[in-house]
Amino acid sequence: MNAYDNAMRQLEKAAKLIKLDKKILAKLSSPEKVVMASLPIEMDNGTQQVFQSYRVQYNSARGPYKGGIRFHPQVDLDEVKALSFWMAIKTAVVDLPLGGGKGGVIVDTKKLSQNELEKISRAWVRAFRQVIGPQKDIPAPDVYTNPQIMAWMADEYSKLEGKPSLGVVTGKPLDYGGSLGRDSATAKGGYYVLLEALRELDIDIKKTKIAIQGFGNAGSIAAGLLYDAGAKVVALADSKGMIYNSRGFNIKKIIEHKKTKKSIVSFPGAKKIKPEEFFALDVDVLIPAALENQITRDNVDGIKAKIILELANGPTTPEADEVLYKNNIIVIPDVLANAGGVTVSYFEWLQNISNNYWTLEEVDKELSEKMIPAWQSIWDRAKELKTDLRTASFIVAIERISAAIKIRS
Ligand code: NAD
Repeated sequence: MNAYDNAMRQLEKAAKLIKLDKKILAKLSSPEKVVMASLPIEMDNGTQQVFQSYRVQYNSARGPYKGGIRFHPQVDLDEVKALSFWMAIKTAVVDLPLGGGKGGVIVDTKKLSQNELEKISRAWVRAFRQVIGPQKDIPAPDVYTNPQIMAWMADEYSKLEGKPSLGVVTGKPLDYGGSLGRDSATAKGGYYVLLEALRELDIDIKKTKIAIQGFGNAGSIAAGLLYDAGAKVVALADSKGMIYNSRGFNIKKIIEHKKTKKSIVSFPGAKKIKPEEFFALDVDVLIPAALENQITRDNVDGIKAKIILELANGPTTPEADEVLYKNNIIVIPDVLANAGGVTVSYFEWLQNISNNYWTLEEVDKELSEKMIPAWQSIWDRAKELKTDLRTASFIVAIERISAAIKIRS
């Protein structure tokens, strides 16, 4: 089953539970617009290469399309369609006045020079100029796209418009229209939601043991926040291996260690463990913050955590998800757990279009004011419908999107 089939299965499951109007289900079962373009680029060695690129605009019932652009050799149209659908769900879950979209380019960025990367980024904007814009569709970074690429894109669009138009993309560098707090937003949003979940289960954060898979932007910042709150982060993993310390790691020191040694695995006092041990640890909270499809049929039965906070996108397979629900393990789904990222992207856009920039305290306060009500409405809906939080998130989002569709029809 490909990602888009999977997305449509999630839509149908939620639609069935709430007896969604058939016309609305039909509307939500395909993207509003799919745009494809070939980007011919003159490479540094003088040859010409053509890169296939996409923008899928899934749904705009609640506002302009919003979603990242992925630069990856395995990008394909069905994947971009699925990702754009999930963005429409995610923006509605946190009640942002935005829709969902996603873009991609089939390219291996590791084989490109900076000059070639810049050419592709600017060519993407020229190719999709008619369909993007601060009031139409606002891209952002995704896998292998970064603030520098967003800066080139905003600059190219501004040149074409003949005026500064920084609100055309988010995730820009701080010196060129970026927002304070964007780098920590995903982890912080997940942290706010986790605090609510712990409160609901009457668990004191200071008594929690936590395992985190992934020690990049999302994982390391989440680890720092949890450490500062008094939780014991007993297990960590990055692409080089997995480590354990029953007394909990000093996250400040481990972040310093990673800066010099490029990995966490050689941290003094850490015991190396195997992937099968990692997922079966006796912890209260398990945080996948690395890749998709990590919690699977093969390791799900061993999981002892009470809560799984999905900072990564798609870390749990649908089969594992069913087992977790049966085992009474609370899964805070990606569309809620990592929605802090798109929420601060929305704040960045608000700052760009009003040309008025916020303090970090203002960003954090506004972020918690989006994340906590989102958690509450999903938790309440899940209890009411006796379903899992993922299905409840889809239901809350679909109800919000369909309300916007209905009122205009
Ligand atoms: P990142 O590249 O900064 O970090 C990824 C981390 O995962 C690295 O520490 C890497 O070593 C580790 N990793 C890679 N392969 C691994 C493996 N096989 N086992 C264990 N660890 C492995 O990426 P990020 O920005 O932190 O994103 C992580 C996840 O969070 C992704 O799924 C991403 O889509 C999702 N996410 C991130 C954001 C954001 O704002 N950064 C927003 C939404 C969702």
